[in-house]
Amino acid sequence: MNFEFSESFALQMDAQDPLASFRSRFHFPKVDGKEAVYFCGNSLGLQPKSVKDHLEKELNNWADLAVDGHFHGEDAWYHVRKKSKPALAEIVGAHEHEVVAMNNLSVNLHLLMVSFYRPTKERYKIIVEAGAFPSDQYMLETQIKFHGLDPADTLVELAPRAGEHTLRTEDILAEIRKQGDKLAMVNMAGLQYYSGQLFDIKAIAAAAHSVGALAGFDLAHAAGNALLKLHDWDVDFATWCSYKYLNSGPGNISGIFVHERYAERSDLPRFAGWWGHDEGERFRMEKGFVPMFGADGWQLSNTDVLGLAAHQASLDIFQESGIENLRAKSEKLTAYLEFIIREISGESGVLEIITPNNPAERGCQLSLLIHRGGKSVFDEWYHQGVVGDWRNPNVIRLAPTPLYNSFLDVFRFAKILEQSLKKFA
Ligand SMILES: *Cc1c(COP(=O)(O)O)cnc(C)c1O
Repeated sequence: MNFEFSESFALQMDAQDPLASFRSRFHFPKVDGKEAVYFCGNSLGLQPKSVKDHLEKELNNWADLAVDGHFHGEDAWYHVRKKSKPALAEIVGAHEHEVVAMNNLSVNLHLLMVSFYRPTKERYKIIVEAGAFPSDQYMLETQIKFHGLDPADTLVELAPRAGEHTLRTEDILAEIRKQGDKLAMVNMAGLQYYSGQLFDIKAIAAAAHSVGALAGFDLAHAAGNALLKLHDWDVDFATWCSYKYLNSGPGNISGIFVHERYAERSDLPRFAGWWGHDEGERFRMEKGFVPMFGADGWQLSNTDVLGLAAHQASLDIFQESGIENLRAKSEKLTAYLEFIIREISGESGVLEIITPNNPAERGCQLSLLIHRGGKSVFDEWYHQGVVGDWRNPNVIRLAPTPLYNSFLDVFRFAKILEQSLKKFA
């Protein structure tokens, strides 16, 4: 694709974008009175305007029906999670019985480890990428200690080669083979929050299985961003949050994937609750946990109806726009941002993109290492209206998301970038 650094080019790209109209379905924040160039969907997705209606409907149900809302009509709260399944299944590439919305991400990481991390004296090691998101690090450390093991001996943290910023797939696969029958599982991000690298989930899962280990993924930055085929890729389990690319609102409900080969494995250890129990028998209130078929059997609590209502607003939009269409636009939009940064920053050496330039190895986010100016450059952009995020020690993450960002947003950022780099010329 031949990109141009001009407003007319950006406007022409927007005019040709079949998804352009979705932008008007979202609320955009203002910064210092200016409409933001919002490139922070990797941290908190924008609010769909339809969230209000979805919430209002459930607030009215609660007001009018109170406890009867659990069993009243088509949208009875008892079954409300089922409505979210077609979209969730499409977004992560799964069967509907392999996914369910529940709890929050860090909670789900722990719950899934209870079932799938079952170390023995011989097979106990866990491979993770070095510098994983803190919650994942703490989860792994405390899970390992919970089993009476030593994190230093158990965790194998994979770092990029000297002078490189991202992991090579060949190195990940070689480490899996090297750990061999000592390896209990690979537990990695699908898409790394800091570098923006999208891992080869299929190859990693296959390599883990070939040595008799399991493969689980934290898809916080991948869900709603990368194309995923969790079922076909034979991933054992995964979880994600819904408030980043899935636009459900701050701290809102998470989702899990459990491959269908575990759908009837009632022998797997789990920390159970009544909502995971056979729903036909649930209200008998009897002794003896009988898990539901599939991912539903990992639920604990009754559904967070208001949270899921807000989530559903965005899931409806994902179904309408189509995840494949979003991905097609995303590749162009991110490539345009990459072009702009190279064009403007060029030889100055102020900015270095550490996210892989191969579209198959990234989502929409680009991570920029800033070599001069540090956080003051980022702060300056912010006051010009650019909302990205800063991650210590020296990375700026920018995520043009295909649902609501435009090529004109990238151009607006380009003008601000051009201005701010002048002082380094
Ligand atoms: C955002 C994120 C989290 C956040 O966890 P919560 O339980 O939702 O607070 C965890 N892990 C990763 C990799 C993330 O990117």
